[in-house]
Amino acid sequence: MNQMNLIRNLYSTLPIVRKWIENTLKVHGANATPLISLPFPRLNRVLPPELLARAKVVLVNGKVPFPPLSSMGLPEFSQMEKMHLAGITYKDTFFVSHPHQTESLHFHELVHVVQWDRLGVDNFLLAYGIGLMQFGYQDCPLEKMAYSLQARFDSDTLSGDIVEIIKHQTDVIWNIVSSIISKE
Ligand SMILES: [Zn+2]
Repeated sequence: MNQMNLIRNLYSTLPIVRKWIENTLKVHGANATPLISLPFPRLNRVLPPELLARAKVVLVNGKVPFPPLSSMGLPEFSQMEKMHLAGITYKDTFFVSHPHQTESLHFHELVHVVQWDRLGVDNFLLAYGIGLMQFGYQDCPLEKMAYSLQARFDSDTLSGDIVEIIKHQTDVIWNIVSSIISKE
């Protein structure tokens, strides 16, 4: 499938994915715990309390919820559906599968929370989808940013205002994505 068709498909699928996200967050809302109430001292050291009070985590047994994209009209992402992801973020809430509940993974997902904040739902989904098609999961730019900051979190080499850094890098990614979209 060429890029133009993919982008068209992404756009036409946005409302149904948005609805799926809202419903998923509603269903799991009662089990969502604010990050600030978890015993993760290093997160508190590198991220602002405002973010940790707003962001929530839901622990799940088995697979984290993922939209049935193939049946929503995006068969290109069927591989992603089959992946066993340790965590996934929707807006200010992320899901972590039980065996993977490390502070490091929580940090990774918090990077995504800031990306969602910065881009909003539609633009996050467009940027993520286009990045996924261009580069695959690990190298999808929004994912690559999260992995790279996570590595620095793990080695304790983060410095500066992390939220501002994420916002800035997200803007750079969005500028590239929007130039791809406008060319189509
Ligand atoms: Zn990620």
